[in-house]
Amino acid sequence: MTLPIARGVLGLGSNEDLYDPANWQHQVRHAVTSLPALEAALVLDESERQGVARALGDGFPMSITPYYLGLCDKHDPRCPIRLQCVPRIEEAREARGDLRDPLGEEAHEVAPSLVQRYPDRALLLATDRCSVYCRFCTRSRMVGGGGGARPLAHLQGAFDYLRAHPEVQDVIVSGGDPLVMSDARIAALLTELASIESVLYVRVASRTPVTLPQRITPELCQALRAHPAVWLMTHFNHPKELTSQSRAACARLVDHGIPVMNQTVLLRGVNDQASTLEQLFRGLVRARVRPYYLLQADPVRGTSHLRTPIATGVELMAQLQGRLSGIALPKLIVDTPGGKGKVPIGPDYVVAQHAGTTTLRTFRGELVDYIDPETPS
Ligand code: SF4
Repeated sequence: MTLPIARGVLGLGSNEDLYDPANWQHQVRHAVTSLPALEAALVLDESERQGVARALGDGFPMSITPYYLGLCDKHDPRCPIRLQCVPRIEEAREARGDLRDPLGEEAHEVAPSLVQRYPDRALLLATDRCSVYCRFCTRSRMVGGGGGARPLAHLQGAFDYLRAHPEVQDVIVSGGDPLVMSDARIAALLTELASIESVLYVRVASRTPVTLPQRITPELCQALRAHPAVWLMTHFNHPKELTSQSRAACARLVDHGIPVMNQTVLLRGVNDQASTLEQLFRGLVRARVRPYYLLQADPVRGTSHLRTPIATGVELMAQLQGRLSGIALPKLIVDTPGGKGKVPIGPDYVVAQHAGTTTLRTFRGELVDYIDPETPS
């Protein structure tokens, strides 16, 4: 099954730029969605071959932009980029704790395509399409499933809900990847959100700086400014993804006044080494992108081969503490199953607490007492 993204949705024309690999629409049109095309680019192992056949049948679909495919090691199926985008037959395996909808989003849908799990924020699912289908995706149950970009008319119920609930002040526009929609559609969506006074800021969640950096054009940056307080939340998982093109894409966003934050998902075989994470987080800060969360992978059905135990993340944080400054060190987060909300976890630095004195363990392992101030009389 191939899932071409509708030309109208992308704003595609017969423009000769479509033959230019530096053009994002070219990248989308030439995304690899079939086994022969993938075999022409990579030497696949048996697990990948079977995994692709399954994905193209009734599994979670495959799509890989030529740019992202170019980051893959041609001969190594354990390449950290390949593990993120090439299906493997392990996806057919159901493990203990696996869930179809790990964050309980369907149960928290308050209006069509609008999910609310916290009192002050809501998630707007603007499309089901992405340029690359990440094999660990939390929304694999619906992403790539059909329907494409949701028309504004379809989202009207969501806008009405936001108008009627001024306590929702923070809207995350996600999907799918909202930045595979056309500039005009993105601007229209953000203009609508800007007209809702109680929505103070909007976060646009997109992996395009990583998988399709050609998408971050000056025109797109202008379209994003349709809301006065837009933040871009992206998703670099490995230092190999920090190419000159992806760094330039982040620079364009920041230079247009759009803060960029990064959420890394902790993935077995991809980034579960302290040296890999250190290189990634330093590279992000250098690109003016704040490493914000290190996310424990959600227990999505068919992803157990990519997940690590909680203890791995805690140990990695212990190794990185003191090795990286505060702006380069994200919080380790578990998004609890069932949509109960995020919980920060990490090593315990409080060793003992007695009246007025707390004993702390430093990153060097020294024990130091902190004395509380006396209560003013
Ligand atoms: S870009 Fe985001 S929504 Fe799309 S497949 Fe990747 S993780 Fe899922």
